[in-house]
Amino acid sequence: MQGEQTAPRGNNTGRELMHEIRIGEDLREKNEAIAEENRKLLAAHGIVTLNVMSAPGAGKTSLLVRTIPVLMKRYTIGVIEGDIQTTTDAERIAALGVPAYQIETGGVCHLDAAMVHSAIHHLDLDSIDLLFIENVGNLVCPAEFDLGEDARVMLLSVSEGDDKPNKYPLMFRESRLLLLNKIDLLPYVSFDVAKARRDAREINPRLDIIELSSTTGAGFELWIAWIDEFVASARRR
Ligand code: MG
Ligand code: ZN
Repeated sequence: MQGEQTAPRGNNTGRELMHEIRIGEDLREKNEAIAEENRKLLAAHGIVTLNVMSAPGAGKTSLLVRTIPVLMKRYTIGVIEGDIQTTTDAERIAALGVPAYQIETGGVCHLDAAMVHSAIHHLDLDSIDLLFIENVGNLVCPAEFDLGEDARVMLLSVSEGDDKPNKYPLMFRESRLLLLNKIDLLPYVSFDVAKARRDAREINPRLDIIELSSTTGAGFELWIAWIDEFVASARRR
């Protein structure tokens, strides 16, 4: 197989493949440059930013809906909502009384730094000190795009299965914190928490892991404490 890839070939399949990879790298570099601009702009306004990623239905919006009212006592919060279509999630967030700006990606299955760049110009940056970006529900490509955040937080719900770290390692590798969500469902699903923790840590030994449920509120004191500690350490930098 390896020999086949490097050997000269009669058709142009190999060349097309190389072309695709080069475009990918150009895009990555371009995204990286805009992400760096976002990071500087957000830092200049004293904003700490968390990029929240997961598969569809893992509970990103429900997590934010339960988290934000607790945090509103000590932070001014803003939210950027990424969705392929529909504004229902942004409406649920806006109903909490925090500014929520919706990015409708129009079919694109991830957010990139340029989308976030235009979104942050719609927010009053001087009045925000903690910004959540809810990424598009997808376990694959969001992990490839730096948005200019300070850290990435990923959710894995126990109903998705404990095989996900090994199947989608990149998101686990790129995240600072893994939230094992919907632990209230553990009695009804076959999800091996110890295995998921072990596999995730094997991919990313520095990954923090918290088990919680946005339905019951279990584990929320740990998640809120993690945010407080992260914001404090980000502000010291
Ligand atoms: Mg959502
Ligand atoms: Zn994508």
